[in-house]
Amino acid sequence: MNGKRTKAKYKPPEFKIQVNALIELDVEISLLFNAILQDYCERFNTKIADERKNCKIMLSLIQGGNDPADMDGLCAFEPVVRLNTIAIQVRCLLLENVDPSDYAIQHWLEILTHEFVHVCQCLTQRTMKPIEQTLLSLPNEEYYFDPDEVEARILQAYYANKLVTNTVSTIVQKIRDCTGEDIDDFEIELQSLVQQRVK
Ligand SMILES: [Zn+2]
Repeated sequence: MNGKRTKAKYKPPEFKIQVNALIELDVEISLLFNAILQDYCERFNTKIADERKNCKIMLSLIQGGNDPADMDGLCAFEPVVRLNTIAIQVRCLLLENVDPSDYAIQHWLEILTHEFVHVCQCLTQRTMKPIEQTLLSLPNEEYYFDPDEVEARILQAYYANKLVTNTVSTIVQKIRDCTGEDIDDFEIELQSLVQQRVK
């Protein structure tokens, strides 16, 4: 025994994500997120900030509008301070008029993992240097070259494809199993609910 101790690997606390969606995805989505968070902490040698340890995370899969400028996904950090909650919204593939093809599902998964990277950034409060030299004062440049965005874009495909492929396949299968008829039924139900509320 040489008395040397290997430093225990940091393991972030597990978060349970509350998913508001047409199909039950809480378990799989939480597994995917916690795997991403663990990779993120290890990759960047970072930890969850103390004040974020008990943060609630909510994901809503919503119906998008027809405006092409509508966001595919967003991660609202603002409620984290007031409500200790991070709210994510991602357009629901099942509510859009698209065939859930491999291509569409892949795109959707990357939108989801992109938003999850933003959650990791928020939980760890990791800050990055701005990439000033790329800015030419053109529209939306600040958004596209924002270091948080650049990082999320780099990691989204990796996290959607390489990390927990079995969990991702379950999510994909659950989406595939939900047929067009189920969605039609749901939309009818949703419309009657809305009408009842309006009354
Ligand atoms: Zn983003």
